[in-house]
Amino acid sequence: MTSDPTELTGLIYDASFLKHDTGPMHPESAERYAAVMKALEQSLGKKSNPFHRLPFQQAKIADILLCHESWYHDIARMDVDQFADVLRTGDTAICPESYEVAMDAVGASLAGVDAVCAGLVKNAFCAIRPPGHHASAERGMGFCMFNNVAIAARHLQQRRGMKRIAILDWDVHHGNGTQDIFYSDDSVFYISSHEDNIYPHTGATDETGKGAGEGTTLNIPVPEGSGGELILPQWQNTIGPALKEFHPDFILISAGFDARVGDPIGMLNLTDDDFSKLTTLVCEWAEELCDGRIVSVLEGGYDPSGLSSAVMAHVREMSGTA
Ligand SMILES: [Zn+2]
Repeated sequence: MTSDPTELTGLIYDASFLKHDTGPMHPESAERYAAVMKALEQSLGKKSNPFHRLPFQQAKIADILLCHESWYHDIARMDVDQFADVLRTGDTAICPESYEVAMDAVGASLAGVDAVCAGLVKNAFCAIRPPGHHASAERGMGFCMFNNVAIAARHLQQRRGMKRIAILDWDVHHGNGTQDIFYSDDSVFYISSHEDNIYPHTGATDETGKGAGEGTTLNIPVPEGSGGELILPQWQNTIGPALKEFHPDFILISAGFDARVGDPIGMLNLTDDDFSKLTTLVCEWAEELCDGRIVSVLEGGYDPSGLSSAVMAHVREMSGTA
């Protein structure tokens, strides 16, 4: 096993993400994060492991404004400061620490992409919460406050010289916020496979972008109960060719594991082995298209033990040691 960090997979996780308290019985719980953190920590504790823990700093307001309206940022912070239980814009539960944690989540995502751009690590996985892909420029919803992955994409373009960004989203839910932010933009290709006819009820196949962005949104809704036998060929035969034609400089993954079998919210049946195979595909494409540059950012996944085992299958594959 190499000890050269540039050959390793960067990991970002931190106990500070436990402070976002969504209340009793909420699926997007600190408990699910604790399970992921424990699994990542155990891996890093092993004598020879393919991972390198990365530091991060909290995001600045200027980072949030790469994708969000300043008035939305202000009301999100105001809702937290005024002890609201939920964001006024949607179903995102909050507590007095939630703004700080959401700023940490963005900062961690930016640290992940910066480490890969600087060649400090081969690729990186950011275990963060709250998730981000339902947050649009002016609205938090679906357990999300700020769109971590979308902000990372704009950061790469505006500050790191990357022109074309692909965002691959395998969360069970469609990332309506990410799609919305880049819908008219041909420099960011948003690609999602998700369960059909569930929250947030967007992501139909005919949502393909508009104006200059026509053709740089790709949605693959699949029926309830679908597993790898249906979803993997879609990635191989539809997503792969489209991604190669787009030829990104950087690949971001909205890594939701609520499409895993047994998840209490999603009704798809992907196994840990399927997530390994999806990861292998994305790593192969990244090698071919963009020198292997991938940063994966946690989205959903609500069964703590299933989530942590799927995350480990994913990061082991990213490291090339599965
Ligand atoms: Zn989800």
